Amino acid sequence: MSQQYRLAVLNGDGIGPEIVPASVQIVDAAVATVGAPAIDWSELPLGRGAIDEFGTAVPEQTLAALSDVDGWLLGPHDSASYPEPHKSLLNPSGTIRKHFDLFANIRPAKAFPGGNAIVEGTDLVIVRENTEGFYADRNTFAGTGEMMPTKDVAIMHGIITRAATERIAHEAFKLAMTRDKRVTIVHKANVLKMTTGLFRDVCREIAAQYPEVSVNDFHIDASTVHLVRRADKFDVIVTENMFGDILSDLAGEVAGSLGIAPSINASSTQAMAQASHGSAPDIAGRNVANPIGMILSSAMLLRWLGAKFNDEAILKAADLVEEKVAATVEAGTMTPDMGGSAGTKEFAAAVVDAITAAA
Ligand code: ATP
Repeated sequence: MSQQYRLAVLNGDGIGPEIVPASVQIVDAAVATVGAPAIDWSELPLGRGAIDEFGTAVPEQTLAALSDVDGWLLGPHDSASYPEPHKSLLNPSGTIRKHFDLFANIRPAKAFPGGNAIVEGTDLVIVRENTEGFYADRNTFAGTGEMMPTKDVAIMHGIITRAATERIAHEAFKLAMTRDKRVTIVHKANVLKMTTGLFRDVCREIAAQYPEVSVNDFHIDASTVHLVRRADKFDVIVTENMFGDILSDLAGEVAGSLGIAPSINASSTQAMAQASHGSAPDIAGRNVANPIGMILSSAMLLRWLGAKFNDEAILKAADLVEEKVAATVEAGTMTPDMGGSAGTKEFAAAVVDAITAAA
């Protein structure tokens, strides 16, 4: 028996108000089609609109409301365009990830048949550590890991800990056990010997607990070379925060478009669906943004809820969303970034029709 979930929606900036409502519409259609109780959605302020209304991009009431729901959909934010002091603060997704300790950022890159992939057959998942590493704006308890002793000198520090590496490595190996049982550790231990060397070594130690999983490792720069030509040869990649962010943009594009790349940010108790891409201000408001990344992120959230609550119906809804997105692409309905001519709304409507027809 499926339960009713309470999910929050944060539209964000740029293309967020286009791709997030499209995802909500599709989740609603899938949940109705499998006969599960309708999702109880609540919309919360975040981003530029929240700065104008509440004087902060992430209002306190948004954080309080998030702690009270089963999960949420986060749209992208365009923090580079915020007025000061907001522009210099930790950005909204960093703030939320840090606040809820959403340590695992799971970023699949999967090519669709007929989906304009650079490397056909790409089907990999990047498991990105989300709480420390080289993103110095969020890797400290208080303050940031960046400072400017003079106006012409800027210093940042990176942090790698055994504890955070162990928990992300377990996520990667557990995930690999449900897939092709291969993990690639990405690091730069030839130069950043102590920090990324610790990351590599701790991942290798954890690997010993998963003897069925085969393991290799690459330097971050070599990884980009392998991904561009041979993305189809990877299964699960585990890496630190900044490397994972950069590599997942590349992997998304190689799989067809950055616009199709989904992600979920999770702890053991909470999860946030968030497309891998940013707010794409260059195409915002034109009904051309690809909603697939956000739609598939929402499906990942359904899957996470299904696993947490042992809810077969919601897992079926996740399957349905993924199947019908793929079928819509295969039928030739795609947004311009994938070489098609469909608008954001038309693509979402085609997916809703395909889902509803499956009832
Ligand atoms: P962030 O640092 O917030 O991730 P970014 O600087 O990486 O942002 P994006 O906003 O992701 O930049 O945009 C990078 C490029 O990809 C832009 O040309 C943008 O138009 C394109 N792009 C991003 N998302 C989509 C999408 N959903 N559909 C189509 N094009 C997209």
